[in-house]
Amino acid sequence: MSLTLPFDTTYLTLPDRFYSKHAATPVSAPSLIVFNHDLAAELGIDTSDMSDEDAADIFSGNEALAGSTPFAQVYAGHQFGGFSPQLGDGRALHLGEIDSPLGRVDIQLKGSGPTPYSRNGDGRAWVGPVLREYLMSCAMQALDIPTTKALAAVLTGDPVLREQGPLPGAVLTRVASSHIRVGTFQYFAARSDVDGLRDLMTYTIQRHYPTATGPTDLIKQVMQRQIELVAKWMSVGFIHGVMNTDNVSVAGETIDYGPCAFMDNYHPDTVFSSIDRRGRYAYSNQGPLTHWNLAQFATSLVALMPDTDLAIEEFTALLNTFPDLFEAEWAKVFAPKLGLAPSDETTALVKELLSLMSEANADFTNTFNVLDQTEKTFPDWYAKWRAAGPNDDVWKATNPQVIPRTHKIEQAITAATAGDFAPFHTMLAALKSPFTPNADFATPPEEDEKVRQTFCGT
Ligand code: AMP
Ligand code: MG
Repeated sequence: MSLTLPFDTTYLTLPDRFYSKHAATPVSAPSLIVFNHDLAAELGIDTSDMSDEDAADIFSGNEALAGSTPFAQVYAGHQFGGFSPQLGDGRALHLGEIDSPLGRVDIQLKGSGPTPYSRNGDGRAWVGPVLREYLMSCAMQALDIPTTKALAAVLTGDPVLREQGPLPGAVLTRVASSHIRVGTFQYFAARSDVDGLRDLMTYTIQRHYPTATGPTDLIKQVMQRQIELVAKWMSVGFIHGVMNTDNVSVAGETIDYGPCAFMDNYHPDTVFSSIDRRGRYAYSNQGPLTHWNLAQFATSLVALMPDTDLAIEEFTALLNTFPDLFEAEWAKVFAPKLGLAPSDETTALVKELLSLMSEANADFTNTFNVLDQTEKTFPDWYAKWRAAGPNDDVWKATNPQVIPRTHKIEQAITAATAGDFAPFHTMLAALKSPFTPNADFATPPEEDEKVRQTFCGT
């Protein structure tokens, strides 16, 4: 065996209505695009006997790993506010869990063929979204933002038919603390399956929140992690794009990279996703939408409380603390971006700068990483900032130079679609050192390079 993984898949101890055991659909000609050896090492996976051919066979789903019982998880979710009671992994399969030095993780193939939850989908992914997720999740990791992680990307050799025509098929392998979503809770709540709901809560508490004392405390702790996560997104100009409740990890990781993007020029209303027509998931809506999503999470747990009216009262009181907690966390992550300690004065300075940036169409990332240049662009603000006594080492160390700019991702995908993976590899290397100056990747797009819309591309 070229690769041995010590699978220990606790999710399969849950009742069988939580998932469907299902094998990957074989692909014609798997070939490895990239394997994340750093992540494998962090996970304690010994890859010394694994060739690139082995990796391609395994991470396309063609070769089954000993001890793995592949399965797809069921869930539900609010998609753009409308509830879908039946979703699930339609193009993903869990190979299983391992108990690693990074903690217990799921290892999942994405694009590995249809499952019982595919509805009309083909269960496949094309190389564009696979590379986008690979780049984005590696960037998030380097920026110290909780995220699922990419372990491998493999070309399948089979074309995938999308609006643009036939495209090269690919499979992404991702690693996550778990794939339990707000929508997983909603699935059981929508069926009034109180036993399933209780099993899921017990499992979630054991796996992610061992100190949680019950539903209320679980909501509180999940809320805290979501607040920390989304505040971090805001601090780097990240727009998730599809914060549907099926794409919200209860563990607090960024999950399901679809039409996500990092902003170039700052505007609070920025939307990239082609399907987000009303701007529900616009940059500055991400805090309020997290609040909304957490309200759905709380709603799904009401059935586990002894008294419905009291539960609603208790959960509402808890959720009402969200705006202040989020605002405080937001202030906490933005303060060091100015080299200042959090305070009302710092928050006022941040807000003033953001408002100047939006009027001036200023680049989000580069305004912060060359803050001293605001002496020319925003002189009055600059004077106030200096008067506040910033620590220059702090803001320089806090603000990244390199983010995965949308036009660069698109260029890498266009080249990869034509068979040239060099731009992808160059970009990946740059994203792994976000604080290192890098002229090729720190420059905002020229007008004609700008990408104004991103697609789910699933
Ligand atoms: P998303 O909005 O990408 O998180 O996906 C929403 C739902 O659609 C999930 O249940 C996915 O598993 C499913 N889905 C997306 N793309 C495909 C596909 N190509 N084949 C089957 N199911 C899919
Ligand atoms: Mg999803």
